[in-house]
Amino acid sequence: MRIVVAGSGAMGCRFGGLLAEAGQDVLLLDGWAEHVDAINFSGLRITDERGSRVVRVAAKAFPAVTADRADLVIVFGKAAQTASLAEAATAAIGRDTLLLTLQNGLGNLEILGRYVPADRLLAGTTTLGTELLGPGHVRALGSGETVFGALEAGGRRREVARVRQALAAAGIAVRMTADPRATVWSKVAFNCVMNSLCSLASIPVSALARYDRFDELAGSVLDEIVAVAAAEGVAVDSAGVLALMRAQFAPSASGDHLASTLQDLMRGRPTEIAYLNGAVAARAAEHGIPAPVNETITRLIALLEATWPARVTSLNAD
Ligand code: NAD
Repeated sequence: MRIVVAGSGAMGCRFGGLLAEAGQDVLLLDGWAEHVDAINFSGLRITDERGSRVVRVAAKAFPAVTADRADLVIVFGKAAQTASLAEAATAAIGRDTLLLTLQNGLGNLEILGRYVPADRLLAGTTTLGTELLGPGHVRALGSGETVFGALEAGGRRREVARVRQALAAAGIAVRMTADPRATVWSKVAFNCVMNSLCSLASIPVSALARYDRFDELAGSVLDEIVAVAAAEGVAVDSAGVLALMRAQFAPSASGDHLASTLQDLMRGRPTEIAYLNGAVAARAAEHGIPAPVNETITRLIALLEATWPARVTSLNAD
């Protein structure tokens, strides 16, 4: 299967690397020239709990990417990059190409829906944690599940099944869903609570587990999300999302894990807040639904983004 990964940061490299190792014909596309050069020169280094290994996989840098038509294009940058990644990968998108997004946030489906019809647009989520350690080097954390499905079941069942087989053969635990929109919204709901609360409090997930008013606080965020999703025809199971969050509180699951929003703040990189609580608040406004909690969280994370370097970390700070 010919696979193009548009946006090859931590996750794009993990998926692309595993698929290449399993014998697929993979091309990684990315805008970070030093990273692309490192992959082409020394191979992609993947470090996991068993050690480090090098995977040989082709990579090209944006812009001026030329790629042959692919069977599958996986868009895997941050949500803010989706439009430019899809545009950069258009040469690889032919009449039979499937497009897959496992990104976090709202808005990716609407953008990618401009490039392929709904039966060729595959969407979902993944809980595989991955870090980019440096140019050409990723750390694959633990195990997780990848859930996806076509936005519209159509005449592409055989091709979609091939994608599932390719992922499974690459060692990625995969499950199909008939309702990928609900899957994406549920992950958005999860991130809107966990990423935002952990970032506002500057705490790892394990510390949130000790807060005795967590359910009440999470509920105030979730209630608004459930209402907005319902206005868009998507049923979000609030109790299910809460149960998933509580499962993260098991010491074996959360440990010292830092939410990606908090990691972005600490690295001085833009967060995905506009595509999480920010997108919920914006869509709420469009539907005439009040969403003061998500609106305020968005403003507070924006404040952190703007002021993080001035953050007080010691009582002795001047
Ligand atoms: P990432 O931050 O690793 O990469 C995104 C882009 O930023 C890539 O193009 C990458 O090359 C570039 N980049 C990263 N570090 C850079 C640097 N130092 N200099 C220049 N460019 C740099 O993004 P990701 O973690 O792979 O996330 C992609 C999507 O997957 C997001 O929507 C994210 O929320 C989602 N996701 C991530 C994880 C995870 O564990 N990383 C898990 C599930 C879902």
